[in-house]
Amino acid sequence: MSGEGDTPQAIRKLVPGRLVIASHNAGKVREIRELLGPYGIEPVSAAELDLPEPEETGTTFVANAELKALQAADLSGLPALADDSGLCVEALNNEPGIFSARWAGEGRDFALAMQRVEDRFAQLPPETGRDAHFVCALALAWPDGHVEWFEGRVDGTLVWPPRGDRGFGYDPMFVPAGHAVSFGEMEPAAKHAMSHRADAFRQLVAAVL
Ligand code: IMP
Repeated sequence: MSGEGDTPQAIRKLVPGRLVIASHNAGKVREIRELLGPYGIEPVSAAELDLPEPEETGTTFVANAELKALQAADLSGLPALADDSGLCVEALNNEPGIFSARWAGEGRDFALAMQRVEDRFAQLPPETGRDAHFVCALALAWPDGHVEWFEGRVDGTLVWPPRGDRGFGYDPMFVPAGHAVSFGEMEPAAKHAMSHRADAFRQLVAAVL
């Protein structure tokens, strides 16, 4: 997939060397370092380079990932990778979507965010379907403005009350399709093998490495 409109273009490869991870989240940077290390890529975090965090003004996951990656590539002069992810609930018109982190408020309280989702269901007919999916958009940008992007997804169903204390965010209320346990109850390795992030990274590795 290329981020340059409808004209088919050759996918640009990432050559071994430094790559800025346009995230100030240490956990994300660690995960990406482990994933890309074997390919001769040396991830450097945006925090290490003292890069500012742009406001996420896009209206899609891809747009937000792109704007973070483009800014980091422009300011650092290096290729940069950014991600944007969230939970989309079909009966709620795919909310919270790009606002997933914001539904947890300033205190990043995901018990509150999950309760907000459940409160919205309480206003709908009881037979309303509880299908949902997580999305992860990855954008890889170069200092000349070229962007490649990839979007991963995992489908599932929402349960209430939340189950399990592993994972993060909305994991305890999300049961992936074909499984009986929530992401919050699952072994981390099992979640990481099937998650939206894993799906997006598989596409990135296959395309640009
Ligand atoms: P971002 O860091 O701005 O992309 O925010 C993503 C938000 O989406 C997180 O704060 C979580 O609320 C939610 N989210 C994304 N991926 C996951 C996941 O794998 N499990 C649970 N929640 C997730």
